[in-house]
This record gives sequence, structure tokens and C-alpha cells, in this order.
Amino acid sequence: DTGSRSASSPRIIALANQKGGVGKTTTAINVAAALAASGLKVLLVDLDPQGNASTGLGVGYDARSSGTYAMLEDGARAAGVVQASTVPGLSLVAADTELAGAELELVMAEGREYRLREALAQIGGDYDVVLIDCPPSLGLLTLNALVAAQSVLVPLQCEFFALEGISQLVRTVNSVSKGLNPALKLDGIVLTMYDRRNNLSELVADDARSFFGDKVMETLIPRNIRISEAQSHGQPVMNYDQRSSGSQAYQALATELAGRLGLSAGQKGKARA
Ligand code: ADP
Ligand code: MG
Repeated sequence: DTGSRSASSPRIIALANQKGGVGKTTTAINVAAALAASGLKVLLVDLDPQGNASTGLGVGYDARSSGTYAMLEDGARAAGVVQASTVPGLSLVAADTELAGAELELVMAEGREYRLREALAQIGGDYDVVLIDCPPSLGLLTLNALVAAQSVLVPLQCEFFALEGISQLVRTVNSVSKGLNPALKLDGIVLTMYDRRNNLSELVADDARSFFGDKVMETLIPRNIRISEAQSHGQPVMNYDQRSSGSQAYQALATELAGRLGLSAGQKGKARA
């Protein structure tokens, strides 16, 4: 369903779950890298003040003088805060230090829910896909992501209490799609840190499938140490250990997602490559 988008606007996908440690950032980094490797022009927006997506792509604290906060403060600055990553075809808006205060400051700001959407409208035409890595809360930053996006992708960790709190997230997505952003859809659930030796993983997967049906992506992301090692080296896992199970899984997930969402390289992306 890509009919409502104009040829030059990117597909904007928010990675959201108010729980921390479920694989939002890991999925954002690795899906972004795999989509970029397939020839798409990809932008990753680090919307979490923790800045793990920035670190995970090799952009350390020192290289984050301006980024997401600057862009939210003034959308006209968006083009100036995008940086190249070490992955060809993948650009990044890093989490700048001021982002930690944004949640509170935005409360007072005019058009506070639309800041990210407006900023991305300035630069979106340069990309086929924009991935937004959300913080672990349903506050104003995540709301900005849900207002800017057409798709929400929810990573679900295959652990105890995986589905706890999920109905609150679904309610939030529904209320945004009934109000601030009618284009928004919950387009996928990604099962992460799946361990096939552990019955619990299978139980969580079964529960998720009975609750969400075919919104659950077929690709399972296994628990794989190479995935977290790669992050500590500032690399997507496909660049760190291409043959690892984690790398293979994230490439399969990117392919599945591209198929489901009809992601394809636009003229602008090609022209600039
Ligand atoms: P979130 O962004 O939702 O808080 P992260 O993506 O940062 O979650 O993941 C939490 C931790 O789990 C990180 O240390 C990450 O490296 C690790 N991790 C994520 N996915 C996997 C996986 N499939 N296998 C092993 N470790 C993982
Ligand atoms: Mg994170």
C-alpha cells in the first residue's frame, strides 16, 4: 500500500516499544544497513537521548554536536544535521546532547507534535526510507515519531512479559491514526532475541501470532552474541560478521519488510548514488 505517497516522499518507519532493551535500536541499525546495502537511500534518525543508534553506527559522543534536537528545534536546520555513516547509502541524524531535555522543552513548543514531521519534510525527498529509533517511552518524542511516520514496527523480545504493555502501545498508535496522523499503520511485529532452545521463546512467538496474526514478521531474529559485539564496534552486524546467524536474520528481515511495504529506490535516490 504505497498509493498515498508521492514519488519523492520516503517511507517513514518508526521503531517503537515503550519497553527498553527489546531490540528497537538493534533492529533500526541492522535493518537500515541491510536496506542500504540493497541499494536504497536510507536515513536513520536517532530519537533516543541515550544515543545508542548513533554509537552503534560508530558516531561517538564527540561527533554529536548537532543532531536530532537541533532538527526538532528548527526544521530548517534538518539538512545541516545529517551525517554520513560508515555504511554506504546510510545517513544518520545523531542524538545530540540537548536531546535529553527535549521531552520537557517540547511541551511548551508550538506545534509540538509536528516537529519531526516538519523537519523530515525538508529532507525526506533525498531518501527512499527513513527509520526512526524511538526512546523507551510513549512521551512526546515517540509521539513526534508516530506523527511523522506511515509505519510502526514493534520489536518484541521473546522473554517473560513480552506482551505486557503492548495494548497501551497499540492504543497509542490507534489514537494517533484517528487524530494527528491518519496515514499511520501498525505494519509489523518483529520477534527479537529468539532462542529456539528455550520453550519460552516459542510460547511468546505463539502468543504474538495469536494476538497480531500476520502482522508478525515471519523472520525471527535469534539471540546472537555477534549482534551485540558488532554494536560495541560501531558496526551493523552484516559488516562485522556477515555469516553470523544475526546478520543473516537481519538481512532476511530487511528483505521481508521491503516486500511487505513495497520499498523501492526512487529516482532521487538513484540520481545521487
Ligand atoms: P532497545 O533499543 O529496545 O532498548 P537494544 O536494541 O538496545 O534495545 O537491545 C538491548 C541489548 O540487547 C543491547 O545490548 C543489544 O546489543 C542486545 N541485543 C539486541 N538484540 C540482540 C540479539 N538478537 N542477540 C543478542 N543481543 C541482542
Ligand atoms: Mg534503544
